[in-house]
Amino acid sequence: QACKLAAGNWKMNGTRADLEQARAIAEAFPSPKCGILLCPPATLVRTMADMLAGSAVMVGGQDCHAQDAGAHTGDISAAMLADAGARQVILGHSERRADHAETSALVAAKASAAHASGLVAIICIGETEAERDSGQTLDVVLTQLKDSVPKRATSANTVIAYEPVWAIGTGRTPTLEQIAEVHDALRAALPDAGISLLYGGSVKPGNAAEIFAIANVDGALVGGASLKAADFGAIIAAL
Ligand code: 13P
Repeated sequence: QACKLAAGNWKMNGTRADLEQARAIAEAFPSPKCGILLCPPATLVRTMADMLAGSAVMVGGQDCHAQDAGAHTGDISAAMLADAGARQVILGHSERRADHAETSALVAAKASAAHASGLVAIICIGETEAERDSGQTLDVVLTQLKDSVPKRATSANTVIAYEPVWAIGTGRTPTLEQIAEVHDALRAALPDAGISLLYGGSVKPGNAAEIFAIANVDGALVGGASLKAADFGAIIAAL
């Protein structure tokens, strides 16, 4: 991959005061050699996108509905995110699969909606600890990949994030060999071999460089360490 991607997922964190962290990232990386993306909560997408207009930092959403509009109280469509200045949207994060019972079929429908609105879909997959312990990791992630990614996905409209559920927010990461094994298997199974593969789960300044050096790792999806410009900046610098 020519250009790696450092993506920050703020999850349910951030009010307007935290936009200063985004501004600091944009100021620290005026012409980065990689892609930089921040996905704040939906309430901040419009303001952050306006603030970062003209900078190298892209803004994305964390979820969207599969339909463009309608009677879906509390939901946000891909068209609305695009209208608010988002260029990407995270879909099928394990927290949404767990908290909102999202299936891979629903994630694929959301990804198609994102594509129709011109958004890049960042589709998340990953095994639980029980699945890894019972030797099912590759089966699980390859099934999630097949069922969550629209058949006609391309490198222009889709990114895959491999996030082992047990590594999210825990400070625990797979070994470099385990990350390489999964990313190699995903690369071979992608509908378009050029689609970028991000690793996510406890990425921090101290482990970013060794993870980015793995073949078939095209960047990272960062949670906690994306909230502070100093930490996220150190991860971007490691790309
Ligand atoms: P942490 O970086 O906080 O482990 O979260 C990873 C993640 O879920 C990003 O989407």
